[in-house]
Amino acid sequence: MYLQKFLGSCRGALRRLTLKSLVQQTAAAAGVGVRQQHSQPQHGEAHSSRPETASAKTLMDIGTRKIFAEEHDLFRQNVRRFFQEEVVPYHAEWEKAGQVSRELWQKAGDQGLLGVNISTEHGGVGGDLLSSAVVWEEQMYSNCSGPGFSLHSDIVMPYISNYGSTAQIQRFIPQMAAGKCIGAIAMTEPGAGSDLQGVKTYAKRDGSDWILNGSKVFITNGWMCDLVIVVAVTNRDTKSAAHGISLFLVEEGMKGFNKGRKLEKIGLKAQDTAELFFEDVRLPGDALLGEANRGFYYLMNELLQERLLIADMAIASCEFMFEETRKYIRERKAFGRTVSHLQTVQHKMAELKTEICIGRVFLDNCLQLHAHKQLDSSMVSMAKYWASELQNKVATQCLQLHGGWGYMWEFPIAKAFVDSRVQPIYGGTNEIMKELIARSIVSKI
Ligand SMILES: Cc1cc2nc3c(=O)[nH]c(=O)nc-3n(C[C@H](O)[C@H](O)[C@H](O)COP(=O)(O)OP(=O)(O)OC[C@H]3O[C@@H](n4cnc5c(N)ncnc54)[C@H](O)[C@@H]3O)c2cc1C
Repeated sequence: MYLQKFLGSCRGALRRLTLKSLVQQTAAAAGVGVRQQHSQPQHGEAHSSRPETASAKTLMDIGTRKIFAEEHDLFRQNVRRFFQEEVVPYHAEWEKAGQVSRELWQKAGDQGLLGVNISTEHGGVGGDLLSSAVVWEEQMYSNCSGPGFSLHSDIVMPYISNYGSTAQIQRFIPQMAAGKCIGAIAMTEPGAGSDLQGVKTYAKRDGSDWILNGSKVFITNGWMCDLVIVVAVTNRDTKSAAHGISLFLVEEGMKGFNKGRKLEKIGLKAQDTAELFFEDVRLPGDALLGEANRGFYYLMNELLQERLLIADMAIASCEFMFEETRKYIRERKAFGRTVSHLQTVQHKMAELKTEICIGRVFLDNCLQLHAHKQLDSSMVSMAKYWASELQNKVATQCLQLHGGWGYMWEFPIAKAFVDSRVQPIYGGTNEIMKELIARSIVSKI
């Protein structure tokens, strides 16, 4: 109650604050630890006055969905404004360049958009998981896939925060939260993607140092990164390859670390996906992240959040595409009336809305479970597989409803269509997701 009163009385003032201070002020007002500052309902509870998207005016309305609270809405307003003002106007230029600008990263850092769910003790913003989800979703609502913020903040930073030494945390997290150090993670190799145990990149001990050799491919933020977590074999003599894998923090400028070309992709045009090469890179002992030969275990733990964010962004993209199409069919005329008057079109939109809203409910449940550390591998695999398939279906059908204009790059649906294609591939392909789901089905109960 106190928190709501506080928010009501100073909403005008809050708007002028940076996002970072917004998150921190609400935490102080609530008188709770920064990690729980948002009065999100406990699992099973609900904010009954908040409509679900199915009954909201649009699928992107602020103030909807019972998993969120009023503080999240204020945060969302600010994040939405950030993407509209700082990203949308420049995105076409960045698509041509194959990367976003460095200034954008620093602006995002200044506004508290990076490392939202990393504790303030570690140098992050100190928001909850749902605040991170707000940033993922708002990026999809802006239809600008260029900034690799979610990978940086919610995939790379947690590895350092969860497994890093105090020195590593102090060195990297504040810089990453400020947007001055861009993070990447390099698992995939030209010969090993789904089969992570097949990686060949090798780090050999040399006194207290390690010597790293190998190459990686398809690395998001790979061209701009200042820091990359590299997955390497450190023990070739274990019974299972999984027990001989470690993670290393490799920095831009280290001798023998070279970046290849920015890869030309069919979508995600403004995202700098690159190849990375390591030739006798000498790494000091303190470049090892966590314990030696425990890397595979860390990967399995952290892939859960990676899949959750892909799934949540997939549903958010569906919501965006649906609203974009709704606008279009209400304006486009054919046979003397708008396309939205055609019953077949209405039925198609009804089907899409139903599926998207059902997907949203499942995803919100996953988000809430993960916020309480209760999400499991099978459930997140279902979310990633199903939501990314839905995203592709919605993209195809919404583009179809745009007719020939949908095929033109200047129409947002064209970009959303090509961007959707990678979602069933990265973060573990959907075939691998089905393997993980099946495992829990056929295992003994
Ligand atoms: C744009 C983009 C960004 C990426 N970003 C990153 C990044 O930042 N860091 C990173 O490390 N990687 C990244 N990746 C790599 C991505 O995670 C891999 O492409 C993905 O894991 C698949 O690996 P692969 O391409 O080697 O395909 P493969 O493993 O060769 O798979 C080929 C086909 O075989 C199927 N298959 C393989 N094994 C099985 C099985 N056991 N059962 C059934 N089917 C199977 C696959 O599902 C797929 O359809 C990115 C990829 C893309 C395209």
